[in-house]
Amino acid sequence: MNIVISDDMEKETIDALGTIGKVIYKPANLSEALKDTEVLIVRSATKVTKELLENAGGTKKLKIVARAGVGLDNVDVRACEERGITVINTPAASSNAVAELVIGTMICLLRNVQKAHLQMKTSVWGKKGLMGNEIGGKTLGIIGFGRIGSLVAEKAGALGMDIIAYDPKPRKDAGGNSKINIKFVPLDELLNSADIVTIHVALNPETKGMMDAKAIAKMKNGAYLINAARGGIVDEDALYDACRNGQLRGAALDVYGNEPYSGRLLELDNILFTPHIGASTKEAQKRIGKELVERLKQELEC
Ligand code: NAD
Repeated sequence: MNIVISDDMEKETIDALGTIGKVIYKPANLSEALKDTEVLIVRSATKVTKELLENAGGTKKLKIVARAGVGLDNVDVRACEERGITVINTPAASSNAVAELVIGTMICLLRNVQKAHLQMKTSVWGKKGLMGNEIGGKTLGIIGFGRIGSLVAEKAGALGMDIIAYDPKPRKDAGGNSKINIKFVPLDELLNSADIVTIHVALNPETKGMMDAKAIAKMKNGAYLINAARGGIVDEDALYDACRNGQLRGAALDVYGNEPYSGRLLELDNILFTPHIGASTKEAQKRIGKELVERLKQELEC
């Protein structure tokens, strides 16, 4: 059995996959390679589109598309299903990594860490302009109380934040082990009352653009917005305006409408940028690899 891995992958995972089948790592011509492949493994870079599947001659052999990660927005699931291709992912493996990044960027934002760092590198010792705020006692508004949102709640609650959340269908088990008090509120109330809003929903037609100019205008004056979920959920033009005119004190972005991102938000000093590194910890990658191999073995019954 052939397994094509079309995006970067840790050696450990490639080796583990090698025990299931013959691994073809990053083939020069993906469409060609897919004609003789049972399993395709992708991360974020490869877009598994209808066109790719068609160009691969209908991919009659392909049985499984596996996404090493959570979101399936780079996989046309319907096109796969129409061809009888099973789509699997590793939903839980990176949750803790993303939640820790959110906590880290939140503290950096409120303490102006990115500004302080850049100043010192240009020999400026500017303590006065770096007066910050503490996250303790602030209200964190979590949009999407699933795997990641609930972990953020636990960690932020332990750091003394008040947690409010909006989710039409919160996970029953989310936050279950935590002693943190979480108040579920309607979206408008969350936007009106949170000092920091963090987004943890999947990108889908309902959530695309949910943080548009109208929603951002409902946020508290001087609040912060964090998006480590998916680009496209936050309207980047509206965010630019709000961060520029001071309605928002700042933002932190790990994800963008177009990646790699090179747009005008980069002009602004009150936005903390990371290049989609939410899941980029050695621990998460290990868990992703392990979960991926286990899921594949289940599907292939081997
Ligand atoms: P999850 O499915 O466990 O949780 C998502 C939650 O959002 C669910 O509880 C769902 O009920 C809720 N939801 C759906 N529509 C909503 C809406 N309109 N308003 C409010 N809540 C809504 O997902 P997860 O594992 O927590 O992942 C969340 C997001 O994080 C996904 O977009 C995923 O792609 C992203 N992610 C990003 C990175 C990164 O590298 N930055 C890594 C992993 C995951």
